[in-house]
Amino acid sequence: MSIFSKYEGLSRSLSAVTAGGGRNPFDVVIERPISSTVGLIEGRETLLFGTNNYLGLSQSPAAIEAAVEAARKYGVGTTGSRIANGTQGLHRQLEARLAAFFRRRHCMVFSTGYQANLGTISALAGKDDYLLLDADSHASIYDGSRLGHAQVIRFRHNDADDLRKRLRRLDGTPGAKLIVVEGIYSMMGDVVPMAEFAQVKRETRAWLLADEAHSVGVMGEHGRGVAEADGVEDDIDFVVGTFSKSLGTVGGYCVSNHDGLDLIRLCSRPYMFTASLPPEVIAATMAALDELENRPELRHQLMDNARRLHAGLNAAGLRTGPQASPVVSVILDDVEQAVTFWNRLLDLGVYVNLSLPPATPDQHPLLRTSVMATHTPAQVDQAVSVFAAVAGELGINRAPVSA
Ligand code: PMP
Repeated sequence: MSIFSKYEGLSRSLSAVTAGGGRNPFDVVIERPISSTVGLIEGRETLLFGTNNYLGLSQSPAAIEAAVEAARKYGVGTTGSRIANGTQGLHRQLEARLAAFFRRRHCMVFSTGYQANLGTISALAGKDDYLLLDADSHASIYDGSRLGHAQVIRFRHNDADDLRKRLRRLDGTPGAKLIVVEGIYSMMGDVVPMAEFAQVKRETRAWLLADEAHSVGVMGEHGRGVAEADGVEDDIDFVVGTFSKSLGTVGGYCVSNHDGLDLIRLCSRPYMFTASLPPEVIAATMAALDELENRPELRHQLMDNARRLHAGLNAAGLRTGPQASPVVSVILDDVEQAVTFWNRLLDLGVYVNLSLPPATPDQHPLLRTSVMATHTPAQVDQAVSVFAAVAGELGINRAPVSA
């Protein structure tokens, strides 16, 4: 028997997606970025509306300079794990820098955001503990729960009352209870009601971890995320985040005021058994963090663009989530339609993410867009008009939703 026979279903699904000569949406090549908002795809200049590069900092001249200088000075890799030869002065500097930014005592830097969730969740919630996960949690959160063997209890998406009920049932049981929520959910761009979850955490004496991957640099007066925006930072025990979105590089982190966080360095397998971030990435991330802090206007431009895109798509009769956030997803009913829509957008020079069930909430296919501070209003309008044109072609624009 072929070792791949278990993937026959997957192979059939992929063939259905690419039927009729359509592209493989999971194998798009951006031949090269031309700027933060335009990339060369299939030899053509294409508007990028699906990159998570919220502040456009992947192309920051200061970050690029810092990376080049660090590579010249220190080389391009560490060739070791954080607990062996992979901790250099720069790693320590970045951890101190992030701790200061979040006003926390401790910070651990991981090689990716995925590993930051895997590494903190698996180490914090062991086999005698309970993990309370939002039903729409990111894959890295679910995978972290498997690696740590805690008992997993899922609660309804963004529903603090449902969580409260489930926690009450655990009254009197030994074992720590760790609640995990995200700041902005990556598929629909909806924002967590963080103050409500903080209230449940206080009532039940559970621990609260917030994955602010999509919200750091985006929400809060200083860009510290939804917890800052909602004024409940003191209730968050652990903030997990990534460098791969608003900071434009790669890597992840966890910050906390709990002294125990440092112990996790010696038991978190995704921290211990992989090579640490290379110097040029650390240096670029610190430069990007300077920009995130010193250029609050980027956050304002981002939110202006988010509102413009959200309003434009709704006015074009497309169905989106209710909130204008930097992730705006167009909700479609069937996969075939979504695949055709996505292909036509790319034909007409607009790249977005195609997200298909089962990876999407409520089993709806999504055309997931993300906006940037560096998009011009004209680029946003261009994307909206291409969406409207394709919706017209496919006959799927509904009655415009009034504001
Ligand atoms: N958490 C969330 C909520 C995410 O959306 C992602 C990435 N999509 C991650 C963690 C993982 O981050 P990274 O891609 O930087 O590994």
